[in-house]
Amino acid sequence: MTAALDILITRAEQSRLGEVSLENIAFGKHFTDHMLEVDYVDGKWQQPQIRPYQPLSLAPSVAALHYGQAIFEGIKAYNDEQGNPRIFRPLDNFYRFNLSAERMQMPAIPEEIFMEGMRELVSMDRSWIPSLRDHSLYIRPFMFSTDELIGVRPSEMYKFMIILSPSGPYYSAPMRIHVEEQYVRASPGGVGYAKAAGNYGAAMYATAQARKHGYDQVLWMDAQEHKYVQECGTMNVFFIIDNTAITPSLEQGTILNGVTRQSVITLLKEAGLKVEERPLSLDEIIEAHDRGGLKEVFGTGTAATISLIRELACRGRDLQFDVDSWKYAPAIKHKLMDIREGRIPDLHGWMMPV
Ligand SMILES: *Cc1c(COP(=O)(O)O)cnc(C)c1O
Repeated sequence: MTAALDILITRAEQSRLGEVSLENIAFGKHFTDHMLEVDYVDGKWQQPQIRPYQPLSLAPSVAALHYGQAIFEGIKAYNDEQGNPRIFRPLDNFYRFNLSAERMQMPAIPEEIFMEGMRELVSMDRSWIPSLRDHSLYIRPFMFSTDELIGVRPSEMYKFMIILSPSGPYYSAPMRIHVEEQYVRASPGGVGYAKAAGNYGAAMYATAQARKHGYDQVLWMDAQEHKYVQECGTMNVFFIIDNTAITPSLEQGTILNGVTRQSVITLLKEAGLKVEERPLSLDEIIEAHDRGGLKEVFGTGTAATISLIRELACRGRDLQFDVDSWKYAPAIKHKLMDIREGRIPDLHGWMMPV
């Protein structure tokens, strides 16, 4: 690939790869040898650097720690059958990153820094991409404000970084979900569509409450009426009712526009299902369940791809589903993994060679 981007590279003296086993490696705990770092100063992005992965030195007054101008992305790289590294739909994450940046009053990152920086970093640390089935290299781009000032105003300085983490199969057993009718994640006019750090901190209390009661995750409802389903933890959510897959629509700005969601919509349509993006009420879901029309329920996201939902607890009831009899969600999950890992052709142009 052409190195249009001028990156200052400092290589690690020794790789730490020998210290970790890439087999069934836990999600998000290990990081590769290098990281990418770019500072925004005086209204300009400075020269990108790739240097050995290491702690940062930051002032205690650094603005992001106090006022939360911080956004991130999650992307995965895989080796194909020939061992060539490829990244799944990174351009979509790039566009979403800048949408998040705009909403949080942060500067846009130029495409070549995000894309070429990521490509170069992944290429340098390519030996960290596990080749085992369902294993991948998780790519975490993020940006935060770095002004040393505890006055509340948008920062003038920012840091954009990319770090990489090898990950094993994000095995998720079919989930038990608590439908959350008290706490809310996002409201119209808010920042729900941004991958902004604060959204995740704000969700932890309700999630912990649900966990205490034996559930894996919460299904968020709309903030105004607590009537329409939104999304599930850090996953978008799909309901197959009769012969139609329904997923909540995005126009209220309260739901994250998932890249996996988009991909699953495409694959569901190819599998012959009708797909609707529209408001979906809990009433409609319960009514469909009670007449036997609710066929499959699942979440979608980069970390787990597709997670089946085996139980929905709502309004004093426990709706239970027989996930073993499901047809679409397991097949789509399989197909998506096959495309990502190169076992079947990538007909959609989703895989970007490194
Ligand atoms: C990241 C995320 C998703 C899933 O998005 P993908 O692009 O599919 O990974 C869904 N909901 C929330 C709240 C998220 O943060």
